[in-house]
Amino acid sequence: MQSALLGEPPVLPDSGVSSRHPYRPLPRRANCWRSQPASVRVIRGRGVPPVYAFQSSPGQEQPHAEAPAPFNGAEPRDGSATSTIEMFVADGSRTLKAELSVAAAEMRALSSELLEARQGLRQSHTEVKLLRASLAERDRRLDATKSQLLAARVAAAEKDDALLKAYGQLTAACHERSDLRQQLIDTQGELTDTRMELQQWINEMHQLKDLHSGAAVKLGRAHISVTGSASLEVSRVQCEVLCQPGSELEARVTSLGTINPTLVRKSADGERWSDIWLQQGQSELIAMGDRIALRHAAPEEYIQFEPPGVVAMGVATLRQQATPRQHAEADFADAPPTKRAKPSQAPAACVPLDSSRTATAAPAAVDAPAQLPRMVLILCGPPGSGKSTFCQQLAALSASSWVRVNQDTAGKNGKKGTRAQCVAAAIKALQAGSCVLVDRCNFDVQQRADFVALAQQLGAQAHALVFKLPVALCAQRAQQRINHEGGVEGPRAAPLVYQISALAEKAGLPTRAEGLFSMMVCQSDAEDVLRKVAMEPERHSSKFPGMVVGEQCVLINDAYPKAKCHGLVIARDPELDGPDQLRTEHLALLQRMQDVGERWAAEQKAANPALEPFKLGFHAIPSMRQLHLHVISQDFESACLKHKKHWNSFTTAFFRPISAVREELEREGRLALDKAVAEQLLKADLRCHRCRAACKTMPALKAHTSACKVPLQS
Ligand SMILES: [Zn+2]
Ligand SMILES: [Zn+2]
Repeated sequence: MQSALLGEPPVLPDSGVSSRHPYRPLPRRANCWRSQPASVRVIRGRGVPPVYAFQSSPGQEQPHAEAPAPFNGAEPRDGSATSTIEMFVADGSRTLKAELSVAAAEMRALSSELLEARQGLRQSHTEVKLLRASLAERDRRLDATKSQLLAARVAAAEKDDALLKAYGQLTAACHERSDLRQQLIDTQGELTDTRMELQQWINEMHQLKDLHSGAAVKLGRAHISVTGSASLEVSRVQCEVLCQPGSELEARVTSLGTINPTLVRKSADGERWSDIWLQQGQSELIAMGDRIALRHAAPEEYIQFEPPGVVAMGVATLRQQATPRQHAEADFADAPPTKRAKPSQAPAACVPLDSSRTATAAPAAVDAPAQLPRMVLILCGPPGSGKSTFCQQLAALSASSWVRVNQDTAGKNGKKGTRAQCVAAAIKALQAGSCVLVDRCNFDVQQRADFVALAQQLGAQAHALVFKLPVALCAQRAQQRINHEGGVEGPRAAPLVYQISALAEKAGLPTRAEGLFSMMVCQSDAEDVLRKVAMEPERHSSKFPGMVVGEQCVLINDAYPKAKCHGLVIARDPELDGPDQLRTEHLALLQRMQDVGERWAAEQKAANPALEPFKLGFHAIPSMRQLHLHVISQDFESACLKHKKHWNSFTTAFFRPISAVREELEREGRLALDKAVAEQLLKADLRCHRCRAACKTMPALKAHTSACKVPLQS
């Protein structure tokens, strides 16, 4: 019964067709069932015995057959039918009841569920309320934090402002301090200068006072006021002054300078000066009041001969040179030009008779010191070495009139010209009384010969000025310039610079044999750093921390160390440019330099015992002027060691160990230094200095040497 009631959901048959179907289980919804009695009646009226059956499993008892059916409202017609209906009704009513009770139970269950749900809902509601409250609380706290943050930010900004102000003040103070420091350094430098000058003068005074009849005194670089590279114009022994035996009123000056001539200035009245340039070996008798200028180009600094027995020194205060040209013209006004002109001394054809200035500038002419003698200055150097810039500055600063002759513009309408056109232009300028600047590369004797010859013809002096800068620098400058008059710029400039430099190198420096009056080499500053340090170490001590200054040498840390420790011991002798000038007389100096170097190396080693052993020696061809001994730890670990030539300069025979140098000097009297061989050594293949293994590139070599464990050969 229960299974039938709760079986498949019923599909109620239509009243008309239901008779042909067996009775189906009761529908679950009781109200549907209760509306069916009419159809039951129809079934009976057709004469078909009421058949009802319950589908149930076979063998199950049919409980409805005996069960009393409750009355369902239908009118009974006969006894059997009535009982059947009653049974049916009873059965339905039971079913209904059972169903009702089930429904009620379900209802109860549902209502309790509902209750529970409601309770849950209420609980959730309270929870939500709580959450909301906490959220609001959090919001409040957040707001508070925000305002605190804002306040902090404002405070920070204020602090920043204050900091900025303080920083500004600090910077200003720093600037002030560095200014003061600079002033101090300047003052110190000046003081040193003055002190040195004074010392020099005192020395000279002592020396010169001893000059008496028959005595000789040698004058040279030590007797001039300028130091540094400018002092190199004067030789160590520029001239010798010999008091004539038997006469204290005369002395003989003999020029010994190897670089430039000595200027002797004679005067009868102490106002008009007659200048004589003494070349090496030439001599001249001087009398009381005559002067010797060791720097031939700077007659304002002189040594005056004042017998008996005294040579006074001084810096000329002849005339202020503010407007020397006007001054020269004033001179001509006092004296008729004919008196001053000496046309006989120059080829007549070359002296324009209408030009008094040309005549006054002729050799041995008496003239004011500011006016230069008429000269042809031959500039020598590759493109980019600064020749044209020099011309511009000279023209702007010089009291004399200069005409620049440049092959790039010597042609018609400023176009490129020929050497012949340059020569013609130079002659024209000289004849017009100007000095001439020959702004060409002039790299060898042939290149210069025409200009030397024309100077000689016209009675002017030919001087050479060599611009000797690092080739790479010239190439770089030439490449970078624009609108060059000769079009030597851009990528095609560099090969030309290298080509001309090589030719100049091959030809060597200009010599006096060419007929030149003097020659001067302008070196780049970088090459002169060591010389400057050697001459005035105190001035450069701030740039070289750890400098050790001795009487004969100065020790500095190399500015571009090629190993962990790399020192230079620089000789202070101004005559010693490099190892090629070493002679037996320098053995004591070398011993001293070695001692200084070894002591320094020992100190470094004591401070850092892990250092590799040191190596002391000279480069066969040094890149810097002034003799210097390299003291280097043999790790060769340095960012400054970049190129093959760096490596090879320390690890091949290019590096001359000091012991070997001293031995060779003792044995041979000088060092054999073959430039070509040395240059080949720099180009040799890269090899490890420990195991001699070959490496292709510098990075590969560095990687190898940092790992190589082969012990160093001593
Ligand atoms: Zn060096
Ligand atoms: Zn190795």
